[in-house]
Amino acid sequence: MALKITEDCVACGVCLPECPVSAITEGDPIYVIDPKVCVECKGHYDSPKCAEVCPTDACVPV
Ligand code: SF4
Ligand code: SF4
Repeated sequence: MALKITEDCVACGVCLPECPVSAITEGDPIYVIDPKVCVECKGHYDSPKCAEVCPTDACVPV
């Protein structure tokens, strides 16, 4: 399982450094989560960190 970034992304960049497994990259025009890399923060945080920090709630379960 993984999260994805929806069109609500405003490319603020806040989520990128927060991902413990570097699954997030800067895309064009919105940021992108690699579903093969995302671990939903399991083993790192109690809940998905990107979803927690995103100001537009653009990080959602796939
Ligand atoms: S849920 Fe966690 S592991 Fe997955 S992209 Fe977001 S911050 Fe990274
Ligand atoms: S924190 Fe949210 S709005 Fe900002 S780049 Fe990440 S997904 Fe996009």
